[in-house]
Amino acid sequence: MEKIDYKKSLGQNFLYDTNLLRAIANDGGVESDDLVLEIGAGAGTLTKVLAEKAKKVISFEIDKSLIPILEKVRDEQKNIEFHFQDFMDAEVDNLFEGKAKVVANIPYYITTPIIFKLVDSIEKFDSILVLIQKEVAERFVAKEGGKDYGITSVILQSIFDVSVSRIIKKECFTPSPKIDSALCKLVPHNRHKISNFESFKNFVHISFSMRRKTLVNNLKQNFDKEMIIKTLEKFGYSETVRPEQISVENFIKIHEDLNVKK
Ligand code: SAM
Repeated sequence: MEKIDYKKSLGQNFLYDTNLLRAIANDGGVESDDLVLEIGAGAGTLTKVLAEKAKKVISFEIDKSLIPILEKVRDEQKNIEFHFQDFMDAEVDNLFEGKAKVVANIPYYITTPIIFKLVDSIEKFDSILVLIQKEVAERFVAKEGGKDYGITSVILQSIFDVSVSRIIKKECFTPSPKIDSALCKLVPHNRHKISNFESFKNFVHISFSMRRKTLVNNLKQNFDKEMIIKTLEKFGYSETVRPEQISVENFIKIHEDLNVKK
């Protein structure tokens, strides 16, 4: 293997253990007729394992110094299509026909932007399995009432079933990061009817703008105060309720109710 100059600024913590890589591909539910999207190929270790299982892998890597290593991987596995570019500039909707499964050990410094870019094209994905920092995964799966529950928990759980399939210890990576990671699975569900998802995302952001304030105080810049109190009462909350006490389902109901009245 060629010597790699790992770039911390690009979140380069690579995985080389084949058993672990196979377990990740399994958790991603990758099957022989699947198209897989990977973000951050690195040395192509996960890409190769995914390509052995899937029909095709489309993989993004921003670091062009990795091209020679990745071209060797592609020589061994012809069903890989590399894009040597920033994933944030990719046009996901025009990238492939049909649906894909995302399986990726993503760079930690842009976890949230990547997730929200995927969310914007949710209809293109059967499932999303991402290896992210454990603390971030805890926020993704958090339930109301807990300290980790916030904007990302509500927005992601409003459209996905979110779960952690395994914890991966920091020692498994080269070089080893400071904290452990978690494999987080997001599977789209259609349990809730959200009439305007952009408006809903904005509503959740406003709701949590000042975490220590009541929900009424956060929302009163955008909605009539009496109207907010009435809506909260309708769903069984008092006017002193804080944003972190509202369940995902009730966030959706409150948003729909306030927007109908607006
Ligand atoms: N998949 C490899 C593995 O599991 O060993 C590497 C994972 S490493 C955590 C993340 C990779 O994403 C790095 O190779 C990094 O260069 C790449 N990367 C960082 N920012 C990126 C971006 N905006 N677009 C595409 N790739 C990016």
